[in-house]
Amino acid sequence: MMFRFDNSYVRLGDAFHSRVLPTPVAAPRLLKLNRALAVELGLDPDALSSPEGVEVLAGNRLPAQAEPIAAAYSGHQFGHFNPHMGDGRAILLGEIVTPSGARVDIQLKGSGPTPYARRGDGRAALGPVLREYIVAEAMYALGVPTTRSLAAVATGEPVYRETALPGGVLTRVAASHIRIGTFQYFASRGDMEGLRALADHVVARHYPDLVGAADPYAALLEGVVERQAKLIAQWLCIGFIHGVMNTDNMTVSGETIDYGPCAFMEAYDPGAVFSSIDRQARYAYANQPSIAQWNLARLAECLVPLFVDEAGSVERANAALATFRTHFQDAYLDGLRAKLGLREARDDDGSLALDLFERMAANKVDFTLLFRRLCDAAQTSDADAQVAALFEDPSAFAAFVEKWRARLASEAGDDAERAQAMRRVNPAFIPRNHRVEAAIEAAVMRDDLSVFEELVAVLAHPYDDQPEHADYMLPARPEERVTQTFCGT
Ligand code: AMP
Ligand code: MG
Repeated sequence: MMFRFDNSYVRLGDAFHSRVLPTPVAAPRLLKLNRALAVELGLDPDALSSPEGVEVLAGNRLPAQAEPIAAAYSGHQFGHFNPHMGDGRAILLGEIVTPSGARVDIQLKGSGPTPYARRGDGRAALGPVLREYIVAEAMYALGVPTTRSLAAVATGEPVYRETALPGGVLTRVAASHIRIGTFQYFASRGDMEGLRALADHVVARHYPDLVGAADPYAALLEGVVERQAKLIAQWLCIGFIHGVMNTDNMTVSGETIDYGPCAFMEAYDPGAVFSSIDRQARYAYANQPSIAQWNLARLAECLVPLFVDEAGSVERANAALATFRTHFQDAYLDGLRAKLGLREARDDDGSLALDLFERMAANKVDFTLLFRRLCDAAQTSDADAQVAALFEDPSAFAAFVEKWRARLASEAGDDAERAQAMRRVNPAFIPRNHRVEAAIEAAVMRDDLSVFEELVAVLAHPYDDQPEHADYMLPARPEERVTQTFCGT
């Protein structure tokens, strides 16, 4: 048997989901299996890559004891509430408990229409499947909480978007797929019983320390606020732009989910937007903390009616939401200190970082490369010229580097050790948009997976110098630059 399912979400009852079978595809072909993840999950990678295994990953064969479902949820999409969402093209095969005791969802994305598909075809194009595969695994290797990618399968069938495109199915692994939008689904229907059951499930599953708390629902809100604040701080520290931070794309577990039109910033720009559908720049790079807080306010609205202390509920919810700023600021400042190699926390650390960012913005400096080269400069000023060369006006670095070095000199510690510590937080390799596009293009247009394979391998070790892959560190040349990303749904 391949999966030992234990489907706690199914047991919550019919109000939470629709039972639905994946729709078989014409000619499934395994493009990628994440063997290391399979082992981590206690699954047999050889069984998964066997013909029967590939049929499972394509939705053509149901594993024994599977109880496949599509989950119901709602969501605010670009600020507008949509009560009728749900898994339109994703099917939860089931939950398994890994050898290390973690409970995870195994979900097929692109496996055919569900009762929530509305006018959609329930399918995914191969390009976005590979994109999610690459970026989710890169995020994991970067140390950011995220859903994972277990497999990518080509369906052998076309999907029709603006043109006919090859179809794909992604096998996604997540702590759970429960979103803020899942809470909104029950709250908007006034289903208090469902809402409470959902909250109890989430507390037990994701916040076990809160079981038995005096007010578990208030504590749950506080817990989600804290995890999301820390998550967004991590995003900012690596230049990640999610692109569609709708409330249905924000988990309550604190994992990043739904890699659609996401992107990594190259030249530092707080207003950076890549998503073709984000015309108002709602989900711009530097807007992500306030948007997360806005989304969490929507979660608070759902949870307040459950709070044990009714009289103090609104006050406590507002206090919980207010902690977003402090959790975020603390995590973000800690992240920036580590990026800059500062061991001690001092009052003016924020302004030191801000000064650098202003110079970077004015000089279109590559965010990732700047911090990676700064690691070398922490060890020896011989490397300063390499950093300065990233600025349109190299002299813009001079005033900063003097201040920064004086600050480092005022702290105890060994330069080489500091540089090493900086290399553990400032990645050499991120999924640069043009690299992701090139990998997709080769796979989709030329059936050549070697570009994808090499990219995935490089991104698995983002903090290591990989001299043989030094070109992966480089920003796009002007003619390679990707300025827009698409969700491809
Ligand atoms: P997303 O942009 O992937 O977060 O999807 C937003 C909503 O649209 C979710 O409810 C999806 O299930 C649904 N959806 C997106 N693409 C499709 C599709 N091709 N078929 C059916 N539903 C879809
Ligand atoms: Mg979504």
